[in-house]
Amino acid sequence: MSTNDVRELIVTGGGPAGYTAALYAARANLRPLVIEGVQWGGQLMITSDVENYPGYPEGVLGPVMMQEFRTQAERFGAEFLTDDVTRVDFSERPFRVYVGGEEHRAWTVIVATGANARQLGLETEIALQGRGVSYCAVCDAAFFRDKTVVIVGGGDSAMEEATFLAKFATRVIVVHRREELRASPIMIERAQQNGKIGWALNSVVERVLGEAVGHVTGVVLRDVHTNETRELEANGLFVAVGHDPNTKLFLDWLDHDTGGYLVTMPGSTRTNIEGVFAAGDVQDHVYRQAVTAAGSGCMAALDAERFLAAEHHREQSLAATKH
Ligand code: NAP
Repeated sequence: MSTNDVRELIVTGGGPAGYTAALYAARANLRPLVIEGVQWGGQLMITSDVENYPGYPEGVLGPVMMQEFRTQAERFGAEFLTDDVTRVDFSERPFRVYVGGEEHRAWTVIVATGANARQLGLETEIALQGRGVSYCAVCDAAFFRDKTVVIVGGGDSAMEEATFLAKFATRVIVVHRREELRASPIMIERAQQNGKIGWALNSVVERVLGEAVGHVTGVVLRDVHTNETRELEANGLFVAVGHDPNTKLFLDWLDHDTGGYLVTMPGSTRTNIEGVFAAGDVQDHVYRQAVTAAGSGCMAALDAERFLAAEHHREQSLAATKH
């Protein structure tokens, strides 16, 4: 099915970048269609208190903030499709964006599909997903009240989630594959000062235990220096080892780095295809903050608007010289 209407702009992705792009584009009368994904809102939907977004001195819940972003874009005329993009065709303009068999066309596209949590890649981890293995402490911490949990990772996410989990669990063990933690000093300090949090450094999870009973009962840890293994009893395993960009659908069309992050031209959100822009975590593996994603969403909308205006101007000049 094809919609006859060719839009000025389609935004793919409904996180801080996508909604901010939609807000700016809607206010510029571009009538954007936001194909926001079934799980709209992005990673902030699995975050609790956001304390570092300017304008919220008391902090705000991630899902609440995303709802507000969305409402603000909607107020100015952005339209939403709560579904996943399944294929794109950027071979010619108008560009084509597919949701199953449904085709949407637009003169410009902003890719803002964000990133997803990385897995450890263990068979036992996959087998016990949702049965004690989780990638979202905020979503699942409450299930582990008065229990013991293991969290893997040494970055800010792991520190933040360990601290959050400690509000529920009696014991939280942070497992990290090196001696040094990657997280920022303030996050490390907060976790280290929490009496419920213990540490298993220079260690990796080799196996998740509990398949026979259908839920996590512990993990097998391996010391990376001695290769010695030991069992640790636990009711849950939280994985906080970073993210991968949601760029699979775009890799055939758009320049990307080895990690799959889209490459944009310095100082802009332009990709290698004129009229296609990228914003937020799909093109940022360095900052990855809500505020930077929102900022680049704004940039993408301005870039798209200026691109369309320049094109319109060119067409008008051409028409004028013909007369
Ligand atoms: P990250 O900084 O990339 O850290 C990932 C951690 O997981 C690293 O310690 C890494 O170990 C470990 N790791 C990766 N793959 C692993 C594997 N297969 N097995 C075991 N360990 C593995 O990711 P993040 O913590 O999600 O943070 C991402 C970005 O968001 C960062 O820029 C961070 O500052 C930011 N962030 C900020 C806040 C905040 O300020 N409130 C909260 C969360 C995140 P190595 O260190 O050995 O590589």
